[in-house]
Amino acid sequence: MSIEDVQKEIVLWQSDNFPGSTLVGICNHMIKEAKEAQSDSRWVEHYQKYEDCRLIATESEFAEELADVMFTVFHAAHLAGVDLEHELRSKLAKNKLRTWPKEPGEDGCYHHEK
Ligand SMILES: [Mg+2]
Repeated sequence: MSIEDVQKEIVLWQSDNFPGSTLVGICNHMIKEAKEAQSDSRWVEHYQKYEDCRLIATESEFAEELADVMFTVFHAAHLAGVDLEHELRSKLAKNKLRTWPKEPGEDGCYHHEK
């Protein structure tokens, strides 16, 4: 089953079960699910060590929280009529043209130069 097939199944289920959803509500949920992933104690403790991050998916709820985030992304994209594959490819091409630092910032994130 491709990611597109999974997306279709998820969106169908969401449409049946959450007919009153709004983009604002879904984005609020997206933030909540991302914070759940972030708040995993092993993630917070080891996020700077890539090799340790691999343990997170097997020893915590981190992988499930990532799935929750994707549920909200698929739902928002469906509601807004966004072609996610097109947008992902388009944004990747844009990001490849940007200049990125060699090291992450104090927040652990890489931020492109403006
Ligand atoms: Mg969750």
